[in-house]
Amino acid sequence: MSEIRDITLAPEGEKKIAWARRNMPVLRSIEKDFEKTRPFEGLKIALSVHMEAKTAYLCRVMAAAGAEMHVTGCNPLSTQDDVAAAVAVGGIDVHAWHASTPEEYERHLTAVLEPGPNIIIDDGSDLVNLLHTKLTHLIPDIIGGCEETTTGIHRLRAMARAGTLRFPMIMVNEADCKHLFDNRYGTGQSVWDGINRTTNLIVAGKNIVIAGYGWCGRGVAIRAKGLGAKVIITEIDSVKAIEALMDGYSVMTMADASRIGDVFICVTGCRDVVAKEHFENMKDGAILCNAGHFNVEIDIESLTELSTMRYEARNNIEGFVLPDGKTLFVLAEGRLVNLAAGDGHPAEIMDMSFAIQAMSAAYLAKNRGKLPVDVISVPKEIDEEVASMKLAALDISIDQLSKEQRNYLGM
Ligand code: NAD
Ligand code: SAH
Repeated sequence: MSEIRDITLAPEGEKKIAWARRNMPVLRSIEKDFEKTRPFEGLKIALSVHMEAKTAYLCRVMAAAGAEMHVTGCNPLSTQDDVAAAVAVGGIDVHAWHASTPEEYERHLTAVLEPGPNIIIDDGSDLVNLLHTKLTHLIPDIIGGCEETTTGIHRLRAMARAGTLRFPMIMVNEADCKHLFDNRYGTGQSVWDGINRTTNLIVAGKNIVIAGYGWCGRGVAIRAKGLGAKVIITEIDSVKAIEALMDGYSVMTMADASRIGDVFICVTGCRDVVAKEHFENMKDGAILCNAGHFNVEIDIESLTELSTMRYEARNNIEGFVLPDGKTLFVLAEGRLVNLAAGDGHPAEIMDMSFAIQAMSAAYLAKNRGKLPVDVISVPKEIDEEVASMKLAALDISIDQLSKEQRNYLGM
């Protein structure tokens, strides 16, 4: 039986799902195809992805393809209770509520695995982790899984290297139609949506410090520039640092940036990126947030120890008063600001990410028992098909190579 906060919220959630579906044409065409071909007939799928409207629609597409779905969120703060209610009313087994405690969060993950899934859809490797530790008896039934995000893939690669990974995992994040658009433009827009709706402050003219100039950092930086900010990048990779410089940003260490930043945004996938030595340098009123996977990029533990008082300044904004009297503000408890204090990436972006998810899961089902127990790239054909479907949905045509051109290019 589903575990949700409040079933009466379902009509609101249903509206959000309908809006997302309307703006996800690629997934709609996959749904149409899957209704006929039923690639998941007879299979159980456990899913742990941010429980909000676009994910809800993905769950429905997979159910329409014949899957018995058991679903939960992948972050205690990103679950939207109205959406979870609508998913449950729609007949899918859902275990998720907003602001779950660590115990509840693990119980919900466990609940979606207990039915014994054949395929898992993971975001951050929490399902994989539980299966490899506390629920190993469920592994024999697993055909494989798909991982949504960068940090999840780091964890899976480490397991594969150590020889401990026990079923094939497709790296959805590595597909071009995922990280090129989702990590860059999705994070770029939704991080600013989360910060702006939470703080209601001006961005123009501010010193915005972005830690990490990977796919997400590039997106967050370009949108900050567009909003009129003075953008500062911190990096640990020399090449990325030069790239940021050539893209027109200032590059410096966090120690230097900490003295001048008005807003700090971490997107590294690393830990303690903004830490004790930086808090002490910061200006009164500095705003700190995170868009990287875990809530460890800002060292909140040290900030708490340093503080003489902490209080809720506004919904999703916590003030930490330091002994010298200045206050630093942390958004959304240092969890992903775009999802914990917003609706996450736009529907048109998740359209492509989830198209890759759905097609990769169908690929797993089709190739049951034939794939190596390893981390696996998304087949190139899936990437190309999703890109073609997206262009078709946008009614954009591109040129085709002639025979002579193909020969000239040696293809
Ligand atoms: P990436 O590997 O492309 O980029 C990360 C960058 O951070 C790299 O350039 C790396 O050199 C840099 N870095 C690492 N440690 C650092 C440190 N201590 N200081 C400064 N820079 C440092 O990864 P990505 O795809 O950009 O993802 C970054 C994080 O964001 C991951 O945790 C990922 O899971 C998460 N993510 C979040 C969202 C979202 O919706 N908020 C979307 C996609 C990915
Ligand atoms: N499991 C992590 C979250 C990683 S967030 C946690 O502990 O919170 C990064 C992933 O969220 C990205 O790869 C992106 O594809 C996904 N995402 C962003 N916006 C989303 C949305 N609106 N719905 C579902 N997933 C989303």
